[in-house]
Amino acid sequence: MKAYQDMNQDELKTLHQQLSKQYQDMKDLHLQLNMARGKPDFSQVQLSMPLLDVINSHYDFTDKKDYCNYGILDGIDEAKQLFADILETTPEHIIVYGNSSLTIMFDQISRGFTHGYLGHTPWCHLDKVKFLCPVPGYDRHFAITERFGIEMISIPMDENGPDMDLVEKYVNNDESVKGIWCVPQYSNPSGITYSDEVVERFAHLKPAAPDFRIFWDNAYIIHHLYDHHQDHVKNILEACQEAGNPDLVFEFCSTSKVTFPGAGVAAMATSINNKKDILKHLTVQSIGHDKLNQLRHAEYFKSIEDLKHHMSQQAELLRPKFEMVLDIFDKELKPLHIGTWSHPLGGYFITFEAMDNCAQDIVQKCKEAGVILTDAGATFPYGKDPHDSVIRIAPSYPPLNELKQATELFVLCVKLVSVEKLLK
Ligand code: PLP
Repeated sequence: MKAYQDMNQDELKTLHQQLSKQYQDMKDLHLQLNMARGKPDFSQVQLSMPLLDVINSHYDFTDKKDYCNYGILDGIDEAKQLFADILETTPEHIIVYGNSSLTIMFDQISRGFTHGYLGHTPWCHLDKVKFLCPVPGYDRHFAITERFGIEMISIPMDENGPDMDLVEKYVNNDESVKGIWCVPQYSNPSGITYSDEVVERFAHLKPAAPDFRIFWDNAYIIHHLYDHHQDHVKNILEACQEAGNPDLVFEFCSTSKVTFPGAGVAAMATSINNKKDILKHLTVQSIGHDKLNQLRHAEYFKSIEDLKHHMSQQAELLRPKFEMVLDIFDKELKPLHIGTWSHPLGGYFITFEAMDNCAQDIVQKCKEAGVILTDAGATFPYGKDPHDSVIRIAPSYPPLNELKQATELFVLCVKLVSVEKLLK
């Protein structure tokens, strides 16, 4: 196979005819496949079904009568311990909430606007509020900041994390920069894990704004694809404490992709000061979250080892899907030099980087042939990818046979659009 860039116009024209014919054949299959969102498939969710049985009408609530009532706002002890173990901290730093970490993040931003953090001016009184957004990033983070009218500033990332020179420049000099979104391990969507040096530089920031916070969304902290080859992001809470910056970080996670998306348990870890401040607000907002679901999770995962075992079973289901997509990319695209892609060790996504100005057309062509992908641009603030090159691939949800078809169509569309760009 010859790299497309090395082909002359005649060769490209012939190739275009062949690919167009293949594309029409694919269209005629009338596929209806969806690779848009990183959802677990039903076989993954089924692994957690026994969790639904651990509490029933015979459960001995003698010492836990309070769990069946209002109260215990920061979560039951067992759930706090479980999340402390996941996030490698201690229970006094943890608040256990309801089912969604994204809701906690939204609430934290909202609280910044209405009441402010630790007595600082609520952001609604300021002319300008800005957030740093490492890109490509999680579209729903950007949707939250956009919803509040926060100005988003893109920060490029490499395999070690965000460009820290740029982060330091903004955070340490601009008082209107109030936060940064981070997915530090198996990042959504690039799959990278921040290096120790990056975490240390975060911990040592000297923000111009006293209420600047790092929104550390550790959504994929235990979501490894392999048992022995794993990333491990450095503990930011500890690093911030050691750097004399204990209040700098809000860390989030949930069991959405451990047990049931939409019916798991979410938690936040932060400094004791921040926790007190948050609870003042939360106590007005709620009389307590779903403690029976917290208990169900804590009973099912008696220890962090149980949880790790469960995640390893999840990985067995996910791994073949990731490997199949990557195999097809390697075989079909590598020699052609028309794209690069990530090789994540965990998380839910593969990031594909096409030639400039191709992503939207590739996604559109896939759609016209029946395969829905995440919108091109979605992983950038305001949905605008300046190079129009990044596409997020979510291999988890479709069954293997459908994923294979969808990947083959994707590869065909990448080839077709790339040839169209190279044809003059
Ligand atoms: N954070 C990241 C980085 C995600 O990828 C997702 C879901 O895809 C979420 C948060 C959503 O988490 P939750 O279900 O706890 O709201």
